[in-house]
Amino acid sequence: MSSVFDYSGLLNEVVQECRKHAERGQLPSYIPELKKADPQMAGVAMMTARGLFEAGDTRQNFTLQSISKVFSLLVALERRGVEVVFAKVGSEPTGDSFNSIVKLETSEQKPLNPMINAGAIAVCSLIPGASVEERFSLISGLLESILDRPIEIDEAVYLSEKETGHRNRALAYFLKDINGLEGDVEEVLDLYFRQCSILVNCADLARIGMFLAAKGINGAGTPIVSANAVRLVSTFMVTCGMYNGSGEFAIQVGIPAKSGISGGILGVVPGQYGLATYGPALDRKGNSVVGISMLRRLSDVLDFSIF
Ligand code: GLU
Repeated sequence: MSSVFDYSGLLNEVVQECRKHAERGQLPSYIPELKKADPQMAGVAMMTARGLFEAGDTRQNFTLQSISKVFSLLVALERRGVEVVFAKVGSEPTGDSFNSIVKLETSEQKPLNPMINAGAIAVCSLIPGASVEERFSLISGLLESILDRPIEIDEAVYLSEKETGHRNRALAYFLKDINGLEGDVEEVLDLYFRQCSILVNCADLARIGMFLAAKGINGAGTPIVSANAVRLVSTFMVTCGMYNGSGEFAIQVGIPAKSGISGGILGVVPGQYGLATYGPALDRKGNSVVGISMLRRLSDVLDFSIF
């Protein structure tokens, strides 16, 4: 693309065109607080070497949810090393839903990958620290050094998840039983629920995407994590980042991406830009309907598929 390409014009067009697809999706019901979102919201942001471009509801805050799995994995890889992490979690995609329990017992006795809930909970248990606060500060600190602002959590969502996260609790206790989780189960769950409740907006996510696109270097030019950790995480984003819709997404959009159940999607075009979309109505796999349609459209126009 030439340096004068009208990204703002394109993003505006894409939001207007894709917003209507919200009616094909539904708000998640199993975390009561998330049902309060406005399904009509739609935002898209793009961080490039020329700066931030955005259109639609890009300043609406939402919780990271599963997108947080990217950051706890980066922290665990950096602090504990590749061997320790992969002793507790595998690297294969799963055709099951993100919170499925079924493969834990029937496969290798460890979660198939760090992007499903069981894997992410196992990864959380590897984050070092004397207290949940101290461990959480490693995750929030990573985001603070990318975004250059303090990180907050949505207290109501955090409490809602803590109260209703029975399946995550079941996964964590099962992991403990098979020696798949370090430390105290309730503390690990607390850390997991906190990271899921971190507040961001599309503009933040696009900056984070650019940080990954730049192999772990923040906007001020400071390396924050190793290029190898970013490479591993980006690979997981390709193979498992969009839940059991990752294969179709790779064909239609073709970039490392991670979605969350609150309707956000973080996208990375390696070496080029960071992308972010928001649209709370989800398809049956848990991905934002509007977000996917906006990313498909952008991939068609900008031809950024890595494949
Ligand atoms: N907090 C959610 C859960 O653990 C995250 C799920 C998601 O975004 O996929 O169930």
